[in-house]
Amino acid sequence: MKKKLGTLCVHGGRKAGKGEPQQLPIYQSTTFRYEKSEQMARLFDLEDEGYFYTRLANPTNDAVARKIAELEGGVGAVLTSSGQAANFYAVFNICESGGHFLTSSNIYGGTFNLFGVTMAKLGIECTYVDPEWDDERIEACFRPETKCFFGETISNPGGKVFDIERFARMAHRHGVPLIVDNTFATPVNCRPFEWGADIVTHSTTKYMDGHAAQVGGAVVDSGNFDWQAEAARFPGLTTPDGSYHGLTYTRRFGRMAYLTKMVSQLMRDLGSIPAPQNSFLLNLGLETLHLRMRQHCANAQRVAEWLSSRPEVAWVNYCGLPGDKYYELGQKYLPGGSCGVISFGLHGTREDAERFMDSLSLVSIVTHVADARTCVLHPASHTHRQLSDEQLREAGVAPDLIRLSVGIEDAEDIIADLDQALERAAVKQ
Ligand SMILES: *Cc1c(COP(=O)(O)O)cnc(C)c1O
Repeated sequence: MKKKLGTLCVHGGRKAGKGEPQQLPIYQSTTFRYEKSEQMARLFDLEDEGYFYTRLANPTNDAVARKIAELEGGVGAVLTSSGQAANFYAVFNICESGGHFLTSSNIYGGTFNLFGVTMAKLGIECTYVDPEWDDERIEACFRPETKCFFGETISNPGGKVFDIERFARMAHRHGVPLIVDNTFATPVNCRPFEWGADIVTHSTTKYMDGHAAQVGGAVVDSGNFDWQAEAARFPGLTTPDGSYHGLTYTRRFGRMAYLTKMVSQLMRDLGSIPAPQNSFLLNLGLETLHLRMRQHCANAQRVAEWLSSRPEVAWVNYCGLPGDKYYELGQKYLPGGSCGVISFGLHGTREDAERFMDSLSLVSIVTHVADARTCVLHPASHTHRQLSDEQLREAGVAPDLIRLSVGIEDAEDIIADLDQALERAAVKQ
């Protein structure tokens, strides 16, 4: 029988054999030994499976990748050294110089920059699409050279819920896969493949780790997208790879084509692998992901309701609040809870907001979210600092937006800290 999610968080990806360590071993080794030259040659030809060099595969990394793939219901996963690397690999694996892709404009600031600035330097063009546009306006953005559509299940930091089913339908109508960054929801609260997404990415730095211990990322493939049916659009997958003895990924690896290409080309040449030590830490986080998400969501719901009741607070975005713009989409895609991240704005000036943040004591100011410890950030002055006011608006980030990442402490203590900070900041309505 297929295991439930909590069981997969604990047991997924690996089962210790007789006399083997119960906890995941850290294979802190760059390389793996063989006895015959021929054995290693077969590995390089992708004829046999086996470990030879940690840039391409490592048993610790692989066990954690398998767990994440099982949690998302995919055919496999590749771990990367950061969430940034995961999103870059996910797109670049199918979209090269001269290619074009579409992205929801409601995405993380780092991804916004990666797509619009750095990938443009590689000759890849992206079009930002406001998910609130009607279908007709969005569909007009697809071009013959479009390779994928990208969005975040719950946007960082705006907390906007992505209508996965709607965008999967549109992407498929135009012969391209839908890639969903599922960082904030985690597979505990949403599994995008069940709604038609083809590829899922993660910054495992966030809830999956949950303890602010490592930076990492993951790309998971559902195995469902039929690359061969769009063979001319995806020649990298459907025609011989000259750098790999002329093998054709779709023909040779079927549903594993996309991930095999990612490892044998991008990992081989760009090398953004996580350290096995970090994958070990990530796995410790994953073992309690289902428990922590429950507490993050319950606490965030209480804090969001409390903030809404305060006269100093101008607005609160949290899709768990009835009346929130994304409440209905939240109920559809995230019925068991969304995440611990709330965004809100205060009445008064920017200085009032700064005074409020400076007055917090339990809650810390850090460039991080999705940690066990409650933390707060002002994106316009911190993470999204490189964006102009217009880009901020385009990315769905109001200049007064405060991002509060509610941790797993006792809700009473979080609320008490917010309460005294509001009092001290004396924000005027
Ligand atoms: C943090 C984040 C990223 C980038 O991940 P890093 O691990 O910091 O490189 C990408 N997408 C989302 C939604 C994020 O929150």
